[in-house]
Amino acid sequence: MTSEEWFGRARQVIPGGVNSPVRAFGAVGGTPRFMASAQGPYLTDTDGKEYVDLICSWGPMILGHRHPAVLEAVEEALRRGTSFGTPTTAEVELAEEIVARVAPVEQVRLVSSGTEATMSAIRLARGFTGRSKVVKFAGCYHGHVDALLAAAGSGLATFALPDTPGVTGAQASDTIVLPYNDLAAVEKTFAEIGTDIACVITEAAPGNMGAVPPLPGFNAGLRDITRRYGALFVSDEVMTGFRAGRSGWYGVDGVAPDLMTFGKVMGGGFPAAAFGGRADVMAHLAPAGPVYQAGTLSGNPVATAAGLATLRHCTPEVYERLDTVATAIGREVSAALDAAGVAHRVQYSGTMFSVFFTDREVLNFDDVRATESRRYTAFFHEMLRQGVYLPPSPFEAWFVSASHDDGAVDRVVRALPAAAAAAAGA
Ligand SMILES: *Cc1c(COP(=O)(O)O)cnc(C)c1O
Repeated sequence: MTSEEWFGRARQVIPGGVNSPVRAFGAVGGTPRFMASAQGPYLTDTDGKEYVDLICSWGPMILGHRHPAVLEAVEEALRRGTSFGTPTTAEVELAEEIVARVAPVEQVRLVSSGTEATMSAIRLARGFTGRSKVVKFAGCYHGHVDALLAAAGSGLATFALPDTPGVTGAQASDTIVLPYNDLAAVEKTFAEIGTDIACVITEAAPGNMGAVPPLPGFNAGLRDITRRYGALFVSDEVMTGFRAGRSGWYGVDGVAPDLMTFGKVMGGGFPAAAFGGRADVMAHLAPAGPVYQAGTLSGNPVATAAGLATLRHCTPEVYERLDTVATAIGREVSAALDAAGVAHRVQYSGTMFSVFFTDREVLNFDDVRATESRRYTAFFHEMLRQGVYLPPSPFEAWFVSASHDDGAVDRVVRALPAAAAAAAGA
């Protein structure tokens, strides 16, 4: 059966035919591809067509699909049982691995999704400080937590749902949304109501409005302001964690938050995520403290085995390869668009990157919205036709893996001239 036929069947029984909105191709049009299998840097759809994968499951497949060490760890875990509802040794090892890599994380709690991680971190920040307000930045996405679904980047930008129905005024009223990369706005807000603010949450280096890295000093400024007012600084590294480098974005800018959230890479393609940070803050979490948090499948043995194997195989060579491939593809995209006379910028948040159709630097979500996103649709479909799978939205980052060898990069490069011409004509 073709993707077209599967999508028809899917829409009968699944809202919009997908289980996460961006997969529906709403922003670019056309029929989403139903993938049947994957290997290394390649995806194969139900029609038997092969694609170079530049999403990598939105980050987790950092080693490439079906990495032998990850498969082996999963198979070994499966043979011992799939869920016990008790403590297991792999959870301890995964927690130790995270604590060893990211200095500000003294203790960590495992959960099953990035959404759960940010939701729990915010509950903990409120419980710890006894304050209610949360500051977030427009264009930053922290999962579909009610209180954080305000100006939340990609998914919502793509589907033009500025405020989603189902989130009450009370939930939204404790959330303050500020422009990204604007320390003056943060300073002003804290001067007015700083003692009501439980925490500032930010993507460590945003990828969910496309790649819009923090200006030098931005994260350090957030650290300074929150400390002065007794609020917590929560750095969301669900996307950058263990992808921007061995210690995530923290390893890049060295700014120590109070709490951090992780997901994607640390699950190795399974549902595993985490939040952690200062031991005195984490001590407020049940059963050690009064702030409740729990999960039937938290620390699941198969997911933790996949995550642990993935982290252990993220060697310096892996990060070097990610850098090399991301830089090469970014440079070639830029060269092709230059040759076609299309104004654009390639921006990087660590090893994630994206292409904006504009001639100006993109510093925040307003800048993102002002780009010529219609050109992306044409670019995307021509790349897809030639077997390169890009994010189906102009507001998402591109991801590479250590398995993207020169052959995979060549396939991307060969597809670029026609895609650049399509963008020029859009
Ligand atoms: C993906 C993501 C989340 C949500 O993670 P899920 O596992 O999809 O719930 C939260 N924060 C950031 C920065 C993300 O990229």
